[in-house]
Amino acid sequence: MSNMIFCYHCHAQHPREQMRLVVSKTGKRWRCIMSIEAAKKTRAEREAFGRKVSAENKADARARLKARTAVSAF
Ligand SMILES: [Zn+2]
Repeated sequence: MSNMIFCYHCHAQHPREQMRLVVSKTGKRWRCIMSIEAAKKTRAEREAFGRKVSAENKADARARLKARTAVSAF
């Protein structure tokens, strides 16, 4: 079929309307929107997780600091 394009990400062919031309270090490549969206979602999840962990670490550090301050007051 002429409207099928090879997707470098899936190593498979997808219909032309599902493909996006992306520019990478090695040049222009066709990649399907499914893999782009999946990567975006993964990154968002990772960032959300990173934010949560750093917020917890900060809260933990604050709690430790408070505890130390309370002890040294005596
Ligand atoms: Zn694909």
